[in-house]
Amino acid sequence: VAAHQVGLGLQTVTGPAMWIDVHAHLYDVEDARLANLVSAANAAGVGLIVNTATSPASWQRVLQQGRLSPVLPPATGISPFDVQELPDDWETVLDACLGDPEVLACGEAGLDSSSPAYPPLAAQLPVLERQLSLAKKHDKPIIVHSRGAERHVLDLCRNSGIAKVLFHCYTGDPETLRHILDAGYYVSYSGIVTFKNKPLDEQVALTPLDRIFIESDSPYLSPVPHRGKPNQPAWVPLTGAAVAAVKKVDPDQLAAAIQGNYRKLFVRP
Ligand SMILES: [Zn+2]
Repeated sequence: VAAHQVGLGLQTVTGPAMWIDVHAHLYDVEDARLANLVSAANAAGVGLIVNTATSPASWQRVLQQGRLSPVLPPATGISPFDVQELPDDWETVLDACLGDPEVLACGEAGLDSSSPAYPPLAAQLPVLERQLSLAKKHDKPIIVHSRGAERHVLDLCRNSGIAKVLFHCYTGDPETLRHILDAGYYVSYSGIVTFKNKPLDEQVALTPLDRIFIESDSPYLSPVPHRGKPNQPAWVPLTGAAVAAVKKVDPDQLAAAIQGNYRKLFVRP
């Protein structure tokens, strides 16, 4: 049994609000700085950080970091930005990764149609479909990226028959969100919820406490007042406070709800 599945690996942090950062990219961080980032996160009340790979080049690294620190459960997948020039054996290697009990989930995977600079949808689509079927085969959750393509990603998830889905960094419209929730899936919000124009308050208000997560998406999307700097998991409580304010709950109550959601989505009985 993986260390992070025993008591969630939360034992390093005590006190009331124990946050989970459900999506961060730490594979480019070297070991000494990684230790600093993790202790800064722990000191800020963040006890668990899902360290999410984006391409085959980072799969071994997130696994290695997970062995260094039980509070960094790894996820392995291919992001829509990394679907081109894949090694021929990527499916075999990902299959083996997802069979490893230390690997928490498949991800991140998905579609992004928000810029013509990204790989064409025709290249993104089959890579997502293959990952959906591998995640389903291993009964592991899939962490999806869906910018500009939320409805399409939702349809693909539903058609695949997969039950465990997390829409990370949700920025889609409220109507699509309703369908995502109706399908039984989970939704995570990033530091964008702290932005002054409040672009996601309606979506956050619509998302029930038993389906919600928060994330740093480090090193991207730093919350206010750290915009423009590289993000880090220690700042995820700022996002938690913003979400709690919209939900009109105490931050501790939100943190506890997220822990329950983590157990339901990610921890095997
Ligand atoms: Zn990401």
